[in-house]
Amino acid sequence: MKKEKLTCQKCNADWERISARGRKPVLCPPCAEGSSPVLIKKEPKRSEPISSDTSIKYPGPSKWKCPNCNTKMNTEVGLSDPPVHKCPKRAMRVIVLELI
Ligand SMILES: [Zn+2]
Ligand SMILES: [Zn+2]
Repeated sequence: MKKEKLTCQKCNADWERISARGRKPVLCPPCAEGSSPVLIKKEPKRSEPISSDTSIKYPGPSKWKCPNCNTKMNTEVGLSDPPVHKCPKRAMRVIVLELI
C-alpha cells in the first residue's frame, strides 16, 4: 500500500497515512479529534473590553482623585497601576491618585 505525507494545517505536524482516494484530511489525527497538545493562541473575546486582560487591576471606567489637591480624573480604560499626576500642592511632585 502507498503512503502519503500530509501536513497538518493547524499544528504543522507531518504525518503519514495510507493513500486513499477522496479529499485529503487537512488536520492530523490529534487535531482532528481536538486533542492536540499544541497551544492555540486565545483570541480575546470581542464582547469584552480590553480590561479583561489579567494584568488590569482597575477595570475601566474608573474615577481617581488626588489626595492632596483633590484633582479628579476619569479613565475609560482599565489600568494595571493607579494613575499619577504632578501635584501643584506638592511642588509638582508625582502623586499616585486614589480610586474613588
Ligand atoms: Zn495537527
Ligand atoms: Zn494633586
